[in-house]
Amino acid sequence: MSIYDQFHVRTIINAKGPSTRLSGGFLDPEVSAAMAEAATYCVDMAELQAGASKVIAEATGAEAGIVTSGAAAGLLLGTAACIAGLDPVKMGRLPDTRGMNREVIMVRSQRNFYDHAVRTTGARLVEVGLPDRYAGAGVRDAEAWEIAEEIGDQTAAVFYVAGGNSQPPLSEVSNVAHASGIPVVVDAAGQLPPASNLKRFIAEGADMVAFSGGKAIGGPQGSGILAGKRDLIMSALLQHLDLDIYWEQWDPPPSLIDKHRLIGAPQHGIGRPCKVGKETVIGLLVALRKFIAESDEDRSRRFKGLIQRLQAALTGADHARIQVTGGAVPKLELHLAKEAPRTAMELCVALERGNPSVHPDPSRVRNGIIVFSPWCMRDDDPERIAAAVKPLLRY
Ligand SMILES: *Cc1c(COP(=O)(O)O)cnc(C)c1O
Repeated sequence: MSIYDQFHVRTIINAKGPSTRLSGGFLDPEVSAAMAEAATYCVDMAELQAGASKVIAEATGAEAGIVTSGAAAGLLLGTAACIAGLDPVKMGRLPDTRGMNREVIMVRSQRNFYDHAVRTTGARLVEVGLPDRYAGAGVRDAEAWEIAEEIGDQTAAVFYVAGGNSQPPLSEVSNVAHASGIPVVVDAAGQLPPASNLKRFIAEGADMVAFSGGKAIGGPQGSGILAGKRDLIMSALLQHLDLDIYWEQWDPPPSLIDKHRLIGAPQHGIGRPCKVGKETVIGLLVALRKFIAESDEDRSRRFKGLIQRLQAALTGADHARIQVTGGAVPKLELHLAKEAPRTAMELCVALERGNPSVHPDPSRVRNGIIVFSPWCMRDDDPERIAAAVKPLLRY
């Protein structure tokens, strides 16, 4: 029984990983206790973000940082910061970007559904490069000189989506952008672990980097981090905070908001719908502390333990071969035999619709493979998953 029963909602077994549609992962009791306690007090939100900034700056090596309502929210706020700077007039006009530098340059092969967050600000995406390597036609992708050539007097930012396969390398992108005084905003939502990646993108020249709090960090599902240059973070925060306050009354924390550099206080900005609650900020900070305290090796060992138990429990499953992958987050792959009673897609659907409802990673079902990820497995899940899978593989 769980709180969800009271509302006639099933809980599921999440063997896919921290996807938003599957409600992310689950919180460590220390994180949820901190959130529950934080929720019983009131604080000044600007002061809370200034406290968060110190923690995020130390964790990322950036000058400053804020807690956002997710990595996507961070991309929206970061883009808005690049367009409006510290001008309250521009802040107030977004997403109407007429007369502002509003072009955001992006490598074509990095386009994805999260770039909605960038476009929400009124930015216009300008694509660069031809991703031959993905078409199978060739080996190349966008190159740094192509980004340099595209930078013009309308450019607000270069947007870069970090990933194992991203080209050109971030350091080269940063070099050409900075040569023209243009900031680089990095989407690193899913780039943890390793924990060293918290510092990596800033070190490679990113002016702002967004991480998801609800993925590897283990924070609240609707949380994230935006870290970077102080002026840009100041702008992002100004476009995010509730600013229904008189100028004389307004006393923001000087470590994060330098009031004297503003001609006036902006109104609620374009980031206001990305509101983040105090309990979310505290939950993210406590989770971040725990994430950094656990070594990558210990994390990997914890995941491996779950996968080994799943492997043991699946022993004797018919018409399928089991393969365990290595790496920071080991996974179990179920390769279905041709003569199996179901295709991988059918097995995936049957698992999802079963009771308990088990959600594997479907990304390779078209190749006959079902993947199980340990990210969001609760302690008794490996055996429950195996008990659901085995009968579905029998005639
Ligand atoms: C998950 C993800 C996001 C969104 O992160 P949220 O914290 O859910 O907003 C953005 N970009 C990429 C590449 C992601 O993987």
